[in-house]
Amino acid sequence: MEALTVDAAFLAELRRDLHAHPELRFEEHRTSALVAEHLRHLGYTPHTGLARTGVVATLDTGIAGPAIMLRADMDALPVSEAGQAPWASCTPGVMHACGHDGHTTMLLGAAALLKADPPPRGRVHFVFQPAEEGGAGAQVMIDEGLFDLFPTDYCFGLHNWPGLEAGRMGVRSGPIMAGGWRFAIQITGKGSHAAQPHLGTDPLTIGAALVQEAQLLVARRTDPTIPAVVSFCVFDAGTTDNILPETARLAGTLRALDPVVLDELKDGLQRLCNGLQMAHGVNIQVNFHQPYPVTVNEHHATQLARKAMHALDVQMGGPAPDMDITPSLASEDFGFMLQKKPGAYAMIGNGESYKLHSPDYDFDDSIITRGVRYWHTLAHTCAAQEHAP
Ligand SMILES: [Zn+2]
Ligand SMILES: [Zn+2]
Repeated sequence: MEALTVDAAFLAELRRDLHAHPELRFEEHRTSALVAEHLRHLGYTPHTGLARTGVVATLDTGIAGPAIMLRADMDALPVSEAGQAPWASCTPGVMHACGHDGHTTMLLGAAALLKADPPPRGRVHFVFQPAEEGGAGAQVMIDEGLFDLFPTDYCFGLHNWPGLEAGRMGVRSGPIMAGGWRFAIQITGKGSHAAQPHLGTDPLTIGAALVQEAQLLVARRTDPTIPAVVSFCVFDAGTTDNILPETARLAGTLRALDPVVLDELKDGLQRLCNGLQMAHGVNIQVNFHQPYPVTVNEHHATQLARKAMHALDVQMGGPAPDMDITPSLASEDFGFMLQKKPGAYAMIGNGESYKLHSPDYDFDDSIITRGVRYWHTLAHTCAAQEHAP
């Protein structure tokens, strides 16, 4: 174990190259080609083209044992980078604002380290997934046969986490990321003079009431012990200050750590829209889209992740892992994989950086080595289980 090293300088270079060349969901062509080329160089035979740009490589020890899947996401976001680092995005309006450049790099590092020091039995599938950001790339990979082509006992995911001490790892059993729905609402009323509101049907005031009342869904309609959130992020209405508009457009998202609560929020918002429509004589169209399931960590897989984090802590020192980390109301399409297979999604601290999706965000290269070694230790931990699943 001591002899094993992670080439941190090489991986930081690689990460910065990926950062400089971000690609949006399902368009990760350069990234995907670079990943496949690197895997071939390491001696793997990568499977390409799954969910368009997805790449999967397998390390097969040839000895019966657990098969595990380690997953990284590859896509960037439609954000204009504000940072001025030499490796800042070369593509206007596109940026690695969620650190998927770092995730891809850490998994490539793990593919190298595990090639040099493979687990004693079983198989490790390295999954490089497209379109985590709003494209449900994980579901598309599953639909295109991910688990048939690469039979697997456990799935593991890893995301960097701003605000958590750099390199500190965290996991929890049960829900770790929220399930969610996006919604778009169109309110159509009747325009009128600002001084004669009674001659029209004002969609703006009704929209404002909707935004307010929707908060009562969380406050009064769902179990207060289960975290949930309703956020309106778009409210677009009117053109000038003395005309009441004809239409209002609202959009936002519902999140909860429990699928039942998520359903209640969705039904509640629909009912609220129906009620306001009836009460005020407007037409309200609601469109729910982009459902993401709750990301639920399975208990035994979580124990394996905890065991690996503990072993890593003993080997490397540094910030002690948080074995019962606070869940987040952000969403993650890894939840689709955990609907099919037991597994665990973990966090690695990105330090006091800007938040995920911020135009100033950057992945902290100093955490790459720990991320690589987590994957490596986890693969060995899974192989060392007394009973294969
Ligand atoms: Zn993100
Ligand atoms: Zn992300």
